[in-house]
Amino acid sequence: MFWEEKIETLPLDRLISLQEERLRNTILRACESPFYRDRLAKSDVSITRNISMENLCRLPFTTKDDLRQNWPYGFLATTKDSIVRMHSSSGTTGRATVVFHTLNDIKNWTSLLARSLYGAGLRRSDVFQNMMTYGLFTGGLGFHYGAEEVGALVIPSGAGNSKRQIQLMRDFSTTAIHIIPSYAMHLATVFDELGIDPKRELDLRFAFVGAEPHSEELRLKIEDFYGCQAFNSYGLSEMNGPGVAFECPFQNGMHIWEDHFIAEIVDPQTLDPLPDGEYGELVMTTLMREGMPIIRYRTRDLTRVIPGICPCGRSHRRIERIKGRSDDMIIIKGVNIFPVQIEKCLMGIRGVGRNFLITLITKGYIDEMVVKVEYENGYDASLDTLKKAILEELRSELLITPKIELVPIGTLPTYEGKAVRVNDERNK
Ligand code: AMP
Ligand code: ZN
Repeated sequence: MFWEEKIETLPLDRLISLQEERLRNTILRACESPFYRDRLAKSDVSITRNISMENLCRLPFTTKDDLRQNWPYGFLATTKDSIVRMHSSSGTTGRATVVFHTLNDIKNWTSLLARSLYGAGLRRSDVFQNMMTYGLFTGGLGFHYGAEEVGALVIPSGAGNSKRQIQLMRDFSTTAIHIIPSYAMHLATVFDELGIDPKRELDLRFAFVGAEPHSEELRLKIEDFYGCQAFNSYGLSEMNGPGVAFECPFQNGMHIWEDHFIAEIVDPQTLDPLPDGEYGELVMTTLMREGMPIIRYRTRDLTRVIPGICPCGRSHRRIERIKGRSDDMIIIKGVNIFPVQIEKCLMGIRGVGRNFLITLITKGYIDEMVVKVEYENGYDASLDTLKKAILEELRSELLITPKIELVPIGTLPTYEGKAVRVNDERNK
């Protein structure tokens, strides 16, 4: 059940002392980089010397803008000779941020993924098909190395090319897939088109899904269609990529690997720390990174720490599935909405297909939300009833009344990578 039992179940007080010790080393290492030498010199020096988990909140934050402004090498804490790998974020706006790794960084990252995958149940006997983009995106190589470390047979199929994915799954009896949740839904449609039922014709045990926000309802749809367990995997390139937080077999929140990271939740407006249980922005600090330590990074991801101990025995705290990124929040008619709220409603309604698209438009001076929803084959006869059901659900969840357009399955755009759920055409 455990990959590294001692560390995964380390008593809380010892975990905290380990974090403090590693944090002090991280600060020393970070001061080797041009960015932190300057940034930390400007902050309270006595704090940086006597850092503890209590006064951590007095250290300055690091933001995506800091990474951009100090692009490409301003955060490097080692010589370039020690760097063996570069990755970048998949950000759609502005310059993509880059992260550099030493060989030890890659080894540590790999061990975190091995720990995550083994904890979920992956074993040497599994055939692991990695349907993620290989390259600068961290989802491909990160999982690839982790699954190899566990000893599984890895099929580096990469993203897209759905028919080939299905062929590989059948030919080599794939038992585990790593897949973007929205793409898992698209692939399901291709399975249907080919008349193949994965529940009957495949031996899937696990789907590891992550890289984008998704609801519990979508997870259930994946589990139901593929006949396997779906595990949520969270990470961001600034903190390596995947392997930051991962679900255990209890599937109730993702354990953050606190021996490698410090996670804080802060109020996104005041930036004050929030206690466990309260929703806010996740702020992360690397504890083991050599090439590019990052301190108090504002992830923009909104979640909360789930209070209490997980029955699996791991002492590392859990975060709830990500509600959304603060920059993905839609503000319409004064109401704040996350796309995942809409997904959650839609995926719980019988007759709704697997894809949707939110479009924001301005009519006169008024903003409107149009939700295009694919309906399942065979639902053509009762479209009015389906529309009413969707409208009711969305109205009570969002407190505004969107316009609903039902479209046949396979009509809306699909993506090999992260889905684009919102099309904002306001004031254009
Ligand atoms: P990247 O910069 O490409 O590494 O993307 C990292 C971002 O993807 C995170 O900051 C999150 O916004 C999102 N993300 C990654 N994994 C998940 C997940 N399991 N659930 C929700 N969002 C995720
Ligand atoms: Zn657990």
